[in-house]
Amino acid sequence: MSWYAATAVVFASVIGMEIFAWAIHKYVMHSKWGWGWHESHHTDTHGPFERNDLYAVCFSVIAAGLFIWGMSWPPAFFIGVGLSVYGLLYAFVHDGLVHQRWPFFVKVRGKYMKRLVQAHRIHHATHGRDGAVSFGFLYAEDVRKLKARLKSKQA
Ligand SMILES: [Zn+2]
Ligand SMILES: [Zn+2]
Repeated sequence: MSWYAATAVVFASVIGMEIFAWAIHKYVMHSKWGWGWHESHHTDTHGPFERNDLYAVCFSVIAAGLFIWGMSWPPAFFIGVGLSVYGLLYAFVHDGLVHQRWPFFVKVRGKYMKRLVQAHRIHHATHGRDGAVSFGFLYAEDVRKLKARLKSKQA
């Protein structure tokens, strides 16, 4: 594979993962089968680990599988790289900027990053399975729009 193609695959995988993660968050984690793990993240987010982290473990296993598959089919390796890059971005934005789970303080800079953090706080405005808005992790809609939707869902 050329470096050109490899970079394109990595980029496409990161974007694809955001769409995939959005869908999993909305349709699996907030569904009756997925809520058992995800609930911990909406109710008590204190201890160092949450049951919800098991989702991240699942994605790491998938990435490891892609790296192994990549030994015989190179594109799989770069999809695995995309997944890992997404994992790092998720850990930085979600666990670091939004939930401050890192052992040091992470300062939120930039207009877009602030919007992303605010959008995820709005996601956490609901503690139950239903009625939540804003399921993405790297892309967030306009905060005013999200607030309006949250209100209409709670009415
Ligand atoms: Zn959630
Ligand atoms: Zn969260």
